[in-house]
Amino acid sequence: MRTSSPSRRTSACPETVTTPVEQVATRLRRELGDDAVLTDRQQLRTYECDGLAQYKVTPAVVVLPLTTAEVAAVVRACLDAGVPYVARGSGTGLSGGALPHADGVLVVTSRMRAVRDVDAADQRAVVEPGVINLQVTRAAAPQGYYYAPDPSSQQICSIGGNVAENSGGAHCLKYGFTSNHVTGVEIVAPDGEVVRLGGKAPDPPGYDLMGAFVASEGTLGIVTEVTVRLTRAPEAVRCLLAAFPSTDEAGGAVSAIIGAGVVPAAIEMMDALAIEAAEAAVQCNYPKGAGAVLVVELDGPAADVAAQFDEVERHCRDNAATEIRIAADEAERALFWKGRKSAFAAVGRISPDYIVQDGVIPRTALPEVLRRIAALSAESGVRVANVFHAGDGNLHPLVLFDDAVPGQAEAAEEVSGAILDLCIEHGGSITGEHGVGMDKARFMPRMYTDDDLDTMQMLRCAFDPKNLSNPGKIFPTPRLCGEIPGRHKGPHPLQAAGLAEVF
Ligand SMILES: Cc1cc2nc3c(=O)[nH]c(=O)nc-3n(C[C@H](O)[C@H](O)[C@H](O)COP(=O)(O)OP(=O)(O)OC[C@H]3O[C@@H](n4cnc5c(N)ncnc54)[C@H](O)[C@@H]3O)c2cc1C
Repeated sequence: MRTSSPSRRTSACPETVTTPVEQVATRLRRELGDDAVLTDRQQLRTYECDGLAQYKVTPAVVVLPLTTAEVAAVVRACLDAGVPYVARGSGTGLSGGALPHADGVLVVTSRMRAVRDVDAADQRAVVEPGVINLQVTRAAAPQGYYYAPDPSSQQICSIGGNVAENSGGAHCLKYGFTSNHVTGVEIVAPDGEVVRLGGKAPDPPGYDLMGAFVASEGTLGIVTEVTVRLTRAPEAVRCLLAAFPSTDEAGGAVSAIIGAGVVPAAIEMMDALAIEAAEAAVQCNYPKGAGAVLVVELDGPAADVAAQFDEVERHCRDNAATEIRIAADEAERALFWKGRKSAFAAVGRISPDYIVQDGVIPRTALPEVLRRIAALSAESGVRVANVFHAGDGNLHPLVLFDDAVPGQAEAAEEVSGAILDLCIEHGGSITGEHGVGMDKARFMPRMYTDDDLDTMQMLRCAFDPKNLSNPGKIFPTPRLCGEIPGRHKGPHPLQAAGLAEVF
């Protein structure tokens, strides 16, 4: 735990100021110190993309604040100069949410890494936004607790990023997403004010502004402190790996398990291509020749886990499982998970380039949607490996291509977009956990009407009327807050000038 902020040297050198963002850099050097402000091109390039590396923009300035007061100073400087800013945690996001602005400031929280409080009695921890997800569990473990949301990136992603994306993970089937585990946030609002939403107590009266803030992808302000719920470590955990001839039978087993009222901590599925990739990357030794595998984990009181485990095994056998392995110890359990958790990166072993897609469908639509994905793949010649949080119906198709082969990237993009259309067609969504960012903004109108989008923009404008906090993300067109959206829309300037008519 950090008790005091390291001191900083400030610059006495005056600089020639030409642009608003340079003015901001000069002001922040004065207020935060030289070592908190990066403007060297080589250093800036480290931050030019997040986990979605197809999009790259070098920011004009990177700021590394240490405290909430420093974050507020950055936001005020940007506000005064009309300069956009983007918050960044660890940069593992997969939707381009932390993509910088070329004329803007990137606010990186990686120095705000203190775990301020672990309060086992109240089952809460209070952490700074740059704290790594797994670090919360490490801090709580000695008292018998852990932090339940477990994105596969949990060894590197930050809690601030998790809040902004409402991140999920394998165990969110039973325990819920980030939004179910955050009870309070401190934010720097886009007017530079430090605001607290929620706290240690659950369900404060009034509008659920914290609910609005979680998943807002950095567009409503910057999180500077997070109060999270801690979960009691379960008495027993049991994990099995089941192999099936195809995803149809594996999907059938998932429906049977959940339909029987069993809520496993996690049910994850991988298809044959994803298994091949994981095997090549981490030698997880999954059953040879499997068309699909399920990793099913149960946790809770030992007696309940034992009874439900038998039931899970039975449903797997009834759905034509060809092999069932039960983890004998923690090492074997870790090996089962290693294949699944490494799956995204693992496809790099079988394809030079790939798109990690993220969509949601009702669980029962799984077999039909997987068949349609297979058909899309066959028609286009684009290979698709499937990895998913099967219990939640959250698909992660990995669309493989080789950028060096002309036309392949475009074909992969097309298949990737068609998969999202399939999700919408089946009553699902264009993202389960990776967020909209800049990558999926163009898909928002496929899911929402103009009125829906206008209503969301009104909320954003209430927080950020100047549109400086991560502009250009989530929404397909940058509507300025002066233009009041929805039914109260004023006349368009062209209309006011008599150059256009609205019918
Ligand atoms: C290999 C791999 C596996 C992954 N697995 C999962 C998974 O299982 N589940 C899942 O949900 N995601 C997963 N992800 C995606 C990613 O890790 C999550 O979205 C994560 O929450 C991003 O955290 P970050 O700190 O890297 O955020 P960044 O990428 O830095 O930022 C993400 C978004 O959050 C905003 N943001 C960051 N910090 C703040 C802040 N302090 N205040 C306000 N806004 C902020 C940014 O502006 C941006 O919009 C995976 C990514 C990778 C690379």
